[in-house]
Amino acid sequence: LEPAYQFMVRVRLPAGVATPEQWLTMDRLADEYGNGTMKLTTRQTFQLHGILKWNMKTSLQQMNEALMDTIAACGDVNRNVMCAANPSQSDAHRKVYDSAADISERLLPKTRAYHEIWLDEEKLIDTKEEQEPVYGKTYLPRKFKIGVAVPPSNDVDIYSQDIGFIAIISGGRLLGYNILVGGGMGMTHGDEKTYPQLGRMLGFVPAKKAVEAAEAILTVQRDYGDRSERKYARFKYTVDRLGIETVRNEVNERLGWEVKPAKPYSFERNGDIYGWDDHKEGLSHLTLFIQNGRIADSGGYELKTALKRVAEVHDGTFRLTPNQNVIIADVKPENREQIEAIVSEYGLTDGCENSALRRNSMACVAFPTCGLAMAESERYLPSLIDKLEDMLDANGLREEEIIIRMTGCPNGCARPSLGEIAFIGKGPGTYNMYLGAGFKGDRLNKLYRENIGEEQILQELQPIFASFAKDKEDGERFGDFVIRRGIIEATTDGINFHEK
Ligand code: SF4
Repeated sequence: LEPAYQFMVRVRLPAGVATPEQWLTMDRLADEYGNGTMKLTTRQTFQLHGILKWNMKTSLQQMNEALMDTIAACGDVNRNVMCAANPSQSDAHRKVYDSAADISERLLPKTRAYHEIWLDEEKLIDTKEEQEPVYGKTYLPRKFKIGVAVPPSNDVDIYSQDIGFIAIISGGRLLGYNILVGGGMGMTHGDEKTYPQLGRMLGFVPAKKAVEAAEAILTVQRDYGDRSERKYARFKYTVDRLGIETVRNEVNERLGWEVKPAKPYSFERNGDIYGWDDHKEGLSHLTLFIQNGRIADSGGYELKTALKRVAEVHDGTFRLTPNQNVIIADVKPENREQIEAIVSEYGLTDGCENSALRRNSMACVAFPTCGLAMAESERYLPSLIDKLEDMLDANGLREEEIIIRMTGCPNGCARPSLGEIAFIGKGPGTYNMYLGAGFKGDRLNKLYRENIGEEQILQELQPIFASFAKDKEDGERFGDFVIRRGIIEATTDGINFHEK
């Protein structure tokens, strides 16, 4: 008798766009084969947990019938391409979304193994190494992540991506992209040769050359990435080892033309803006706060049932955001009333009334389903925020937007090194605490206290919140404040992340 091995299934969902039919499929599979919940990830896709090994094939086949797959959602290849641009916002946004989808398609592994193993496709005799024109025989040294941002919103955490495309839009026209290379979050406790890093500026490329540029950059990592030690194999270390000039020269040579100097751009914020938003053609979009991306019916809040009911009547799309939230998108005027009725019946917008700290929180899965977890994350952060909210209320800071993030290990799935306040699991009930990232996602934080539990976390933050309430300058962000007041040093480069 085989043990009941269980698995996590992560869908490939470029730019986080799902149809109502796809939502309903995931909802049903979560009940039939998973643990009855869905997780919306920080890379805009669905995860199901607790799928037993003997149910894997059926689950993946049913996803396939709903035009979803899990190809390259894991592994040493390009992962789910992130992009929060809503195509119905403008023609330029549509083109940005198209770029993300095209990049995803071009960098998809070409092997038919997935189809043969999971979808019972007949095995072809001539499937040899020539089937992977981009990845070759050995694929990449490590996972690879790409995001596309549309300023002024940095909702995709563009500096955390292996390749970050920043859309340059002028007069409503998409001119092209500034490209960042070599961002990444993961590190290993106790190994200071590992560190989070921000993407460095490579330059500007015209919009129609974005896919070509993505492939050229990815092949630099394929050919120069460290294949002797996985801990040092991410592109960020390759860029730091070679230097940005060498990387640029390599990319130019592979392209046969030169990337141009970057064009001016500026970000204003990270995170999502909640509530209804109306756009051209009369379409509306409702962004909902989903605590840590967990879609479940629990504690009297029937979130999963409510979104299922929305999916049953909705004829637009669902957009999973990079901040684990969901947008009920492309709602036609004639359908808005019935969507609003469901939203109201289940209190779906009540979450938007949470404190600004909670609205800007993210946590990874961690226990009980992630094998790498050292401490709780998703199951713990909400109760920690309850206590922090009491302190914020006492200091009149309830509506102060502060980015707070937690992960159960330093792998960094919730991009903790970009949290103005962040916690990375060290052991059961203990965390390393970090402060000082930029609100716009453009500065890494730094270690403030090591291996502390809840009591000390509260003790440390109490005086800092009080001082912030009293001494912050007009419009000053928490992450900037703690640096200006000398509470923590700024991290100016990932290479110096561990310097005290
Ligand atoms: Fe698991 Fe670590 Fe990722 Fe959290 S950050 S989900 S604990 S691997």
